[in-house]
Amino acid sequence: MCLPRSLSRAIRSGRTWIGLSVLAPIGMLVVSGLMLLDLRRDAWDKAELTSRNLLQVIERDIVRNVELIDLTLQAVQDNLRTPGLSQLDPAMRQLVLFDRAATARDLGVMFVLDEHGEIVEDIATYPPRRGNYADRDYFQAHKANPLLGLYVGRPVVSRLTGERMVNFSRRIDKPDGSFGGLVLGSLKLSYFTRLFDQIGLGQDGAINLYLRDGTRITRHPYLEADVGVNIAGSRTFDRFAREGSGTFVETSVRDGVKRLYAFTRVGDLPLILNVALAVDEVEAAWRTKASVIGTIVLTLCGLTIALSLLFGRELGRRARMQSELAKLSQTDALTGLANRRRFEAAYGTACSEAVRTGRPLALLVIDADHFKRFNDRYGHAVGDAVLKGLAGCLKGSVHRPSDLACRVGGEEFVLLLPDTDEAGATRVAKEVHARVATLAVGSAGIGPGSLTVSIGLAAGVADAQSVYGRADAALYEAKAGGRNQTCNASSPNGMPGGKVPLRLVGAERSA
Ligand code: GH3
Ligand code: MG
Ligand code: MG
Repeated sequence: MCLPRSLSRAIRSGRTWIGLSVLAPIGMLVVSGLMLLDLRRDAWDKAELTSRNLLQVIERDIVRNVELIDLTLQAVQDNLRTPGLSQLDPAMRQLVLFDRAATARDLGVMFVLDEHGEIVEDIATYPPRRGNYADRDYFQAHKANPLLGLYVGRPVVSRLTGERMVNFSRRIDKPDGSFGGLVLGSLKLSYFTRLFDQIGLGQDGAINLYLRDGTRITRHPYLEADVGVNIAGSRTFDRFAREGSGTFVETSVRDGVKRLYAFTRVGDLPLILNVALAVDEVEAAWRTKASVIGTIVLTLCGLTIALSLLFGRELGRRARMQSELAKLSQTDALTGLANRRRFEAAYGTACSEAVRTGRPLALLVIDADHFKRFNDRYGHAVGDAVLKGLAGCLKGSVHRPSDLACRVGGEEFVLLLPDTDEAGATRVAKEVHARVATLAVGSAGIGPGSLTVSIGLAAGVADAQSVYGRADAALYEAKAGGRNQTCNASSPNGMPGGKVPLRLVGAERSA
């Protein structure tokens, strides 16, 4: 398959992989973060649904039981109005009064109290047990307010049975409407304990039943000390009282545990019920999952970053190596000048450019004179040193960035001078001669003036392609003319000696 060039270049670029090493983990983190948030939302939704369902089930049970007691209280109220009741035999009267009384096992006591708070009728025994309840909150409330209806009292310890219970009461009016006492039925707190115990809410979950004034009737898990405590004014209870029903997360005033509270009023009763799940437990399963997923994702991100960075670094190293190799393949190892390969490419480009722009292209072909002798006399190593010195002279003679000094053969060099006319090239040739005249290799005893070069010079515009051939031919002329001179392919005389007339040679020696 053939990839578009820009894409395949991007794939080979170290930067692309370094970019990927950043972007891919960020993408992974974002996706897994969103997924974890979604899972967390699910856990909360499930907890809220469970709490609401539990709340509904418990509320219904309480409402049904309180209704039963209330119906009984109302029946006693009705029965008290039965004509001739007071004339009946006391045992019979008890039967008539409490004929519709509920006898559920959680029912505590059921009395009729007179206007002084004394027990006058007792569902359990005849004669009634003795006791005065004028000090109880429900007695005072009914006495003060004839329109109370069903009154739910604060949780108390029964004076007769010693059990904890909550009292439900209704007022009895005398025929003239004045306070005639009350009928009272109680529900043992054990009823709530049993009801709540059936429900599993985790280690820190709780169920609370409050009176509307903030008094706690009971709590699950049950603790004696919690009963009767008033939490009115706390942040949690304020919301229960204000909003009627709903859910929210808050820290418990009782034990400082952060919980999800689902709460509701219990039917029409002055009761508030809540089911509270500990936030830690709501999120426990999610946290385990999140830590496993998080660890895996972070490990993968780390691996991705490490691998991408390694890969990117490797690509970068390879690219640097390739460019180094490319540079080396175009450079002469001994002198550091451009080699023949580079010269040929640069010459081709310069020719096209000269033809396109109409600007002249000049070329100096430079050859060391009698170089063989140096080699033979001083050895190859000194010969090499001389070649390096020559390269330095050539480099020093050109000044434009577009000028190129090349070693094209053993002791043969070329100066490629784009956008340079004959006069310019002649100046450069002079500088080459001058510099070479100062060249010395002290270690070998070669002093200045020992070395000379011959130069073939050619410049041209439209015939740029033939410049090399002409310069080469001019070099030949310079050699033939006695060396240590420049022959100009387009001028009749060489320089600096300028003695040799030039023969123009059309064919290029190489390309
Ligand atoms: P001429 O003036 O006619 O150019 O004479 P010349 O001796 O310079 O030319 P010739 O072509 O006869 O000899 C060139 C010598 O350059 C032959 C070879 O030993 C030497 N040479 C070529 N390449 C290298 C090199 O890389 N290092 C050294 N030390 N010598 C080289
Ligand atoms: Mg030579
Ligand atoms: Mg030569």
